[in-house]
Amino acid sequence: MIDGYGRNIRYLRLSLTERCTLKCAYCRADEGLCPKKRELTADQFVKIVRACASLGINKLRLTGGEPLLRRDIVQIVAECAAIEGIEEIALTTNAQQLDGRAPALKKAGLTRMNISVDSLNPDKFARLTGGGELRRVMQAIDQSIECGLLPVKLNAVVVRGVNDDEIDDFIELTRERPIEVRFIELMPLGKLGEDPSKRVPSAELIDARPWLHPVSPSYIGQPSTDYQVDGYKGRVGFISAVSHKFCADCNRIRIMSDGMLRPCLGDNGEVSLLPALEQGMDALEQVIRTAILNKPAGHHFEENWKTLRNMSRIGG
Ligand code: SAM
Repeated sequence: MIDGYGRNIRYLRLSLTERCTLKCAYCRADEGLCPKKRELTADQFVKIVRACASLGINKLRLTGGEPLLRRDIVQIVAECAAIEGIEEIALTTNAQQLDGRAPALKKAGLTRMNISVDSLNPDKFARLTGGGELRRVMQAIDQSIECGLLPVKLNAVVVRGVNDDEIDDFIELTRERPIEVRFIELMPLGKLGEDPSKRVPSAELIDARPWLHPVSPSYIGQPSTDYQVDGYKGRVGFISAVSHKFCADCNRIRIMSDGMLRPCLGDNGEVSLLPALEQGMDALEQVIRTAILNKPAGHHFEENWKTLRNMSRIGG
């Protein structure tokens, strides 16, 4: 469906839960747990995806919080995969609970895997995430490649003075593996992100590495700008939402585990789908249609703006 600024909205990021096993420094370090009772049921998520698909959404990303905390995740993937119009289902995960589950997710219809990892040093990783195990992430990368959840993408949020000394180690992961390592600019979506001195503009990382060669995007409208080292199997992407606003090409909306629809990550406007979920499909489509038509032109990251929810509560 075309929004009020002529953008074709095809992509839904669906947050299955606000709960997370980790406490990443830039994400939810200052948050407590969200009570589970506020989460939608699998049936409600599937109804929402069906309504979105009827409005032209063809790509779905399941995220959170930590989506693998939902025991019904395989059922949600399978039922969403069966919806006419849904062509792609991706998962964003911290991979701490992935071991042995990738084949069942793939069989249910998952097509792609994004794994978050912000340090390749096991002690630093544990510190940054509040107890995460790097070993599990490395296993998850191999298991996801093995079962064909390709391309496997690794997300690393770059924080000055914290992990900006590991950029080349991350790039080195692409030498033998057909993966995409993506460096994400820290966004003002939590206490750490509100400190601009912690942000490392992508251009700074790219300019310091003339051996990175630009490569064509994997698909039109992708948020990352991609590079490769000659002879390496994988690629390296930079997502520069703050320094290079790509809102004019934004094709996504977000729906959260409490049933709120947020048309723009960097704008606090939200609308509840709960009344329409009670009323039926027509009402649901109508409220989603109106929200898409009213999607803001762009985020407010550069305006000293503050989010009312951090990323783990919105869905990254
Ligand atoms: N638990 C899952 C995970 O760890 O991937 C999914 C949720 S997490 C909120 C999704 C993504 O949001 C992660 O890749 C994380 O790095 C990113 N993220 C969270 N806070 C961010 C911030 N302030 N700036 C940029 N990216 C952020």
